[in-house]
Amino acid sequence: HHSDRSTVWVGPAGHQVPIGPDTFTFLAGPCAVETPSQTLEAAQMAASAGATILRGGAFKPRTSPYAFQGLGLRGLEILADVREATGLPVVTEVVDARDVAVVAEYADMLQVGTRNMANFGLLQAVGDAGKPVLLKRGMTATIEEWLMAAEYVAQRGNLDIVLCERGIRTFEPATRNTLDISAVPVVQATSHLPVIVDPSHAAGRKDLVVPLSRAAIAVGADGIIVDVHPDPETALCDGPQALLGTDLRALASAVRRLPPVV
Ligand code: PEP
Repeated sequence: HHSDRSTVWVGPAGHQVPIGPDTFTFLAGPCAVETPSQTLEAAQMAASAGATILRGGAFKPRTSPYAFQGLGLRGLEILADVREATGLPVVTEVVDARDVAVVAEYADMLQVGTRNMANFGLLQAVGDAGKPVLLKRGMTATIEEWLMAAEYVAQRGNLDIVLCERGIRTFEPATRNTLDISAVPVVQATSHLPVIVDPSHAAGRKDLVVPLSRAAIAVGADGIIVDVHPDPETALCDGPQALLGTDLRALASAVRRLPPVV
């Protein structure tokens, strides 16, 4: 392990949630914010499963321009209301440097997604925004390129960066992406930054989320970020990977049975 690994604190003063080597942090929520009730229900499901940070996309980086792009500002307002109702700090994605200020006004942590990992202007803008950053690995990026992307944020004086392994493109079509579980210990050996795993976006299939979460726990990840939805069949984004019911309970129990960090 890197000798002096960092902890990043997320949320308002007095209610901050740590992500780092002394704990395992569970982040969960809907892929996309759709309605106030869908977001609140997803947040309540997440919290009762043990999640301490709410995820949810207001600006969605969709592969197709014809797919649901997210509610934008309205989505940010819904996230802020749900934070108020549940007390969960919020991480949400920013896809355009021009939106950084408004997203930073509402969110506790700014997410840069896989498709923007090498958008250096965006990285610099989030580096200037004064909020912790969740930096996903580019789906075709090497670990070295990913760490260099983090340097673009750090160079602006913001060291509150959490890395997220979310699967990479390989020749294997059985999963949407191939979760590169080895990236976790490789990053931890080279970088002081916390690293979490997104099994939902890696697999694209809900049946793999619990096993991949167990793998993340076993390999020593600093947390996981998981999609949940109260009604995956009607989800406007990535329904097939969203957990609920038994799957979510299995995940909650895997997280609860975590051995203490040594
Ligand atoms: C997401 O977390 O909402 C997302 C779009 O993930 P990724 O950038 O990893 O595809």
